[in-house]
Amino acid sequence: MVRDARYDVLFDPVRIGPVTSRNRFYQTPQCNGMGRTYPTSMAAMRGVKAEGGWGVVFAEQCDFHYTSDNTRNVRLWDEQDIPILARMTDMVHEHGSLAGLMLAHNGFVTPNIISRELPYSPSGGPAFGIFPTHTRAIDRDDIKALHRWTRAAALNAVRAGFDIVNIYAAHDLALPFHFISRRHNQRSDEYGGSLENRVRLLRELIEITKDAIGDKCGVGVRFSVDELIGPKGICCDDEGRDVVEMLAELPDIWDINIGSWPQDSITSRFGEEGRQESYVKFVKQVTTKPVVGVGRFTSPDTMVGQIKRGVLDFIGAARPSIADPFLPEKIRAGRPDDIRECIGCNICVTNNYLGAPIRCTQNPTMSEEWRRGWHPERIERATTDDTVLIVGAGPAGLEAARAMGQRGYHVMLAEARTELGGRVTLESRLPGLNAWARVRDHRVQQIQAMANVEVFLDSRMDAHEVAETGCSLVAIATGSQWRTDGVGRHIRQPVPVADGATILSPDDIMAGTQVSGHVVIYDDDHFYMGSVLAEALVKQGCTVTVVTPAAQFAGFSQMSLEIGHIQRRMAELSVEIVPLTTVEAVGEGYVTTAGVFGTDHQDRACDTVVMVAGQISNDALYKELSQRGGPQRIVAIGDCQAPATIASAVFAGHKFARDLGLADPDIVPFLREDVELSSNLVGWSALPLKGAAE
Ligand code: ADP
Ligand code: SF4
Repeated sequence: MVRDARYDVLFDPVRIGPVTSRNRFYQTPQCNGMGRTYPTSMAAMRGVKAEGGWGVVFAEQCDFHYTSDNTRNVRLWDEQDIPILARMTDMVHEHGSLAGLMLAHNGFVTPNIISRELPYSPSGGPAFGIFPTHTRAIDRDDIKALHRWTRAAALNAVRAGFDIVNIYAAHDLALPFHFISRRHNQRSDEYGGSLENRVRLLRELIEITKDAIGDKCGVGVRFSVDELIGPKGICCDDEGRDVVEMLAELPDIWDINIGSWPQDSITSRFGEEGRQESYVKFVKQVTTKPVVGVGRFTSPDTMVGQIKRGVLDFIGAARPSIADPFLPEKIRAGRPDDIRECIGCNICVTNNYLGAPIRCTQNPTMSEEWRRGWHPERIERATTDDTVLIVGAGPAGLEAARAMGQRGYHVMLAEARTELGGRVTLESRLPGLNAWARVRDHRVQQIQAMANVEVFLDSRMDAHEVAETGCSLVAIATGSQWRTDGVGRHIRQPVPVADGATILSPDDIMAGTQVSGHVVIYDDDHFYMGSVLAEALVKQGCTVTVVTPAAQFAGFSQMSLEIGHIQRRMAELSVEIVPLTTVEAVGEGYVTTAGVFGTDHQDRACDTVVMVAGQISNDALYKELSQRGGPQRIVAIGDCQAPATIASAVFAGHKFARDLGLADPDIVPFLREDVELSSNLVGWSALPLKGAAE
């Protein structure tokens, strides 16, 4: 296919100091839950991004000294850490891309749970979050040490093969940023007071890095120009701009963003593509150095707009490169319609928070590149002569059909409804979740181009009809439904319900049931559904109270970086939140609630109760077919097997297409990289046992 000439500008080479990127696609530092704990998985994932056309591929933030230990990410404390990073740079270089490393000292944000060092800060005070420690205000000697450590890390970064080294000063997560911030810096020496003084540490770290490696590497900075917290923080029309003006030509590249991490990596529910533009567009007017910025860019037209209008020189991306590592290559090859667009759900971030290899709703191969050998674009040709029936076209069924089709199997996909997408179609109609329809749209678009995949709408299948198709392999992807009896994580027996009481499920609301008056949502799901429904119901004119047995409503959203956004929105919509409370019974016109500790029984007047608690699999068809036996092989996938996230359903569909449901559960299905046992037992065995204090 021929590329549209409009997109040519995205493939211009761009210089970054002494090195040149082959194009304008720049994968910014991106946490991945693998880091140094799963190093080959991490390296292979970065290599696949380079293969997919990202001209610059960064590692996640990298600690450069043990006084800032971020347990999950890569680190470069000394030369012992080089091999892990070198594996990554090798894999990136193999495909002609530049490898980047961002040196990070997290200052007071990291509790240093491994190294046990007290966190560093400009002026002392409590550490970040809930950790029961204060920080130590660093002195001039500490700053001199920081200079030494930065130089050493920069030199080691070159030895590890990096082409670009950036200094981290963004997200309120980095010590140089804490020094710049008036909120955090109350020093009276040459590093405090005036902005010139507060910027001094960042300036010195950039200068030292340039001096050490500037002839070999591009040396840049990652900086947040606006904290989005008003005058008490850095603002782009105030000190944010001043900092860029002061340092304008010093770095070889400016990597610019805004806000804290939940703002920078905002979900599509709370922020649109390209929303950083109004904050960052001044940067190119005050520096001649290339500028990279992010904005969950997935549309090549939007990207071209950023370049042509002089906002950015590089299209920065973390999540769009996770959802589709081959995004640049698809544009280059004239296949932009094949891009698997990020939906902005932050499932990727949740796994990073859990310290596990990230997963992605759109890209089931993410983090599986090395350990399962799954490539995002290539899949093994058919290895059996099966004919395949897939029942249900939700995310599991659609992905199974797409991937089986890609393998070359003849596939029939039967869907009971008159539209495809299952829960994705329904949920994408809820407030703020419109972009989630991309999970369906990408797969439908791919399937439509496959002559070997037939789609049957309005085709509810029963066991007899499944048998009649004669297909040898059948995947049952019939999904699940929400319960209305309150049973979930907290309540294990159905709640008593009086005649005349109105109880609805999320399925009812998504099906368009109109509700009025006062609604009590019982949320024992703890993710997005409760707050999204609250929003939908307020928009319908209801007054909403949320009752939850948890101490915090929507607690899992902490991990998707949404909790603060949700709390704010609930407050704006006047949604009442009643935590640590459960439902005991539902009557006509009221719901009986009680504190989770068995106190405070209350009858709360309400017109409707919406139960957002447990779900039940639609597995009747699967069970019937399995019990019947016969020549067909029957496999349950996705929510039919057990209700979970959309990401899990997509993964299940993809896994089915890879292993045809034949994986042997007695064999671990992926490679593992284990800790290498140290041969150094000297220090331990030499303990003075004799005469040691008891
Ligand atoms: P998952 O997340 O596992 O993909 P969904 O609930 O999103 O599950 O999708 C399941 C789909 O299966 C729905 O679109 C539903 O209409 C469809 N479905 C359920 N039962 C049948 C059936 N017997 N025959 C065909 N389609 C079915
Ligand atoms: Fe985008 Fe969601 Fe995938 Fe993260 S998990 S990259 S937000 S689609």
